[in-house]
Amino acid sequence: MHELAITESVVAAVTERLPDARVLCVRLEIGKLSGVVADSVRFCFDLVTEGTGLEGARLEITQAAALCHCRVCGGDFEPDGPIALCPCGSPEITVLAGQELKITSVQVA
Ligand SMILES: [Zn+2]
Repeated sequence: MHELAITESVVAAVTERLPDARVLCVRLEIGKLSGVVADSVRFCFDLVTEGTGLEGARLEITQAAALCHCRVCGGDFEPDGPIALCPCGSPEITVLAGQELKITSVQVA
């Protein structure tokens, strides 16, 4: 399961930086084209945080909008699905935004 590994790395990154902190809330930003399913991350979060400083912490996930540039017609567009295809029908696109997954903030007690 893809999301389990991602959640583990998020939790590891937080505990590494804040080894003794009691974490209350973690905010994540997940790009629409990252292929990461927010609900799966939420599900994994409770499992992964058990026994760590993040146990019981709230997880807030925001979805970051995606933006692509078409190399054929030159237009920028916001893809509506995980597979980006320009409205002109071209798959020749460059992803400008939407593939990132980042921790935007961590709230500690
Ligand atoms: Zn196009």
